[in-house]
Amino acid sequence: MSASRRRDEHIKMTAPIPEAPSDFIREIVQEDLRNGRYGGRVVTRFPPEPNGYLHIGHAKAVCVDFGVAMEFGGVCHLRMDDTNPAKESMEFVEAIRRDVRWLGFDWGPHFYFSADYFERMYECAVQLIRKRLAYVCDVPQEEWKHYRGIPTQPGKPSPYRNRSVEENLDLFARMRAGEFPDGARCLRALIDMASPNLHLRDPVLYRILRMPHYRTGDRWCIYPTYDFAHPLEDAFEGITHSLCTLEFEVHRPLYDWLLQALEFPEPPRQIEFARLNVSYTVLSKRRLLELVQGGFVNGWDDPRLPTIAGLRRRGYTPSAIREFCRRVGVTKFDGLTDMALLDFCIRDELNMTAPRAMAVLDPVRLVIENYPDGQVEEFEAVNNPEDASMGVRPVPFCKTLYVEREDFEEHPPKNFFRLVPGREVRLRYAYLVTCTGFERDPATGRVCEIRCRYDPASRGGNAPDGRRVKGTIHWVSAPHALEAEIRLYDRLFLVEEPDNVPDGVDFKSTLNPESLKTLRAMVEPSLASAAPGSRYQFERKGYFFADPIDSRPGRPVFNRIVPLRDSWAKQARNAND
Ligand code: ATP
Ligand code: MG
Repeated sequence: MSASRRRDEHIKMTAPIPEAPSDFIREIVQEDLRNGRYGGRVVTRFPPEPNGYLHIGHAKAVCVDFGVAMEFGGVCHLRMDDTNPAKESMEFVEAIRRDVRWLGFDWGPHFYFSADYFERMYECAVQLIRKRLAYVCDVPQEEWKHYRGIPTQPGKPSPYRNRSVEENLDLFARMRAGEFPDGARCLRALIDMASPNLHLRDPVLYRILRMPHYRTGDRWCIYPTYDFAHPLEDAFEGITHSLCTLEFEVHRPLYDWLLQALEFPEPPRQIEFARLNVSYTVLSKRRLLELVQGGFVNGWDDPRLPTIAGLRRRGYTPSAIREFCRRVGVTKFDGLTDMALLDFCIRDELNMTAPRAMAVLDPVRLVIENYPDGQVEEFEAVNNPEDASMGVRPVPFCKTLYVEREDFEEHPPKNFFRLVPGREVRLRYAYLVTCTGFERDPATGRVCEIRCRYDPASRGGNAPDGRRVKGTIHWVSAPHALEAEIRLYDRLFLVEEPDNVPDGVDFKSTLNPESLKTLRAMVEPSLASAAPGSRYQFERKGYFFADPIDSRPGRPVFNRIVPLRDSWAKQARNAND
């Protein structure tokens, strides 16, 4: 029987229930809809703390939270989980909003700040005190671990556990009024000091902390803990499915306990999934902050960072990031994902959409000895072989060109089919040329000019007699070429899991010193009109993004998003050239 036929009549749906759920979260949501739980509503939330920029791991959570809501006709709230005054700021709030929107998601009117709930949270705490489910505790934080104990043995009750409701109400009010120093007292839930789950051994709900909050200023000197605040925020907003990462699984009994203790009629349910880990980078906000503040990278949008801002500046598209998240999927098992998967997604997309162009990243002059001085021809280059509707463009050709230094070898290795003295090669779209010689700079020994002769009968690059020419190389006309800055990126770290370096090792010592390489390239003249923020495939060299900030008219700056295939292995080799 189909899910839509089985669902109860009273369930209000704005979208059909998908027939085949693709993961366990969607299965649970579908089951709840079938059973009429939450009256058929699906309300999720994405709750970042505004203490840093979002990264690719958050993108996964965003795709899950917003994706599930959209698929089931629900809504997803964007909530700034700002109950901790330290390190939160409006800069981060704005960056988070920008990034979620850029990823393609819309929270409609449902944008919230947890700090707006402080008064209601305080009321909830008072309610718990009245129900004898919370008490003010004077045991200093450092001593509490002796009370809490270890999972296999019951803990020791706080000597303040039996305070009267009146005394607790009075002390809690005075905590709020600022009568006690920071850390002198806290409010604890009264749950179970023998529970094998340490989170249920009278966890802290409120602590005294004199620290101005970026939104509430110094109105408060007590702040709720995450464990207390989060379920309340979810319940206040009518969240149905609170999707979070696996580390919160052990907090779920406390989440449920609080909502039950406060008698919320339709408490949200928390469902955990595995967080995204990506190799050769860090996803901890603390470490990202350290890299940015310490100047190890050029700001939050450094294209080497796994931040959404960095990925955007590098040239990745929101659709490629969403496709990456879809392919990563939702599971209960932590794994390590290779960035190569994101590269695959962006290549797959740009192959269809990016216009081609010729750019010589490491230029060396090629002179065609028998080509008439001063003659200029124009060849037609195809803008995208995958999409004829993208048309063609003219590229000028003359006696002096630039070609890639690596496309010439005096003593070629096996399987080298490019420029070699005495051999013939095809200049893409133009002519067949045979290398006749080359010159080295006497000072450096580097090849500074290559010479060749062309076959005038091979116009367009086809041999008149059908002779076979294996190699094809790209080129630009030297007098017409435009100089461009090119930025090549490599992985930011040398080790697979820089987040997991052994104790005593500074993760920054594993940074890759060659993660950024800047080149002065010669590119075809049509790129003078490259709009900042546009993407190209430079033939044989990869996909590039006209940097939206540093590009100038007539002086473009291109970030390499990704090489054409097999990104890392090939890049590592190039870096060693
Ligand atoms: P920190 O780095 O300080 O631990 P955080 O990454 O958990 O912080 P939050 O702002 O609390 O940052 O995250 C917001 C949401 O994004 C949370 O629901 C969290 O579970 C989710 N999230 C964070 N990191 C990842 C990740 N690597 N993969 C999937 N989801 C993540
Ligand atoms: Mg967190």
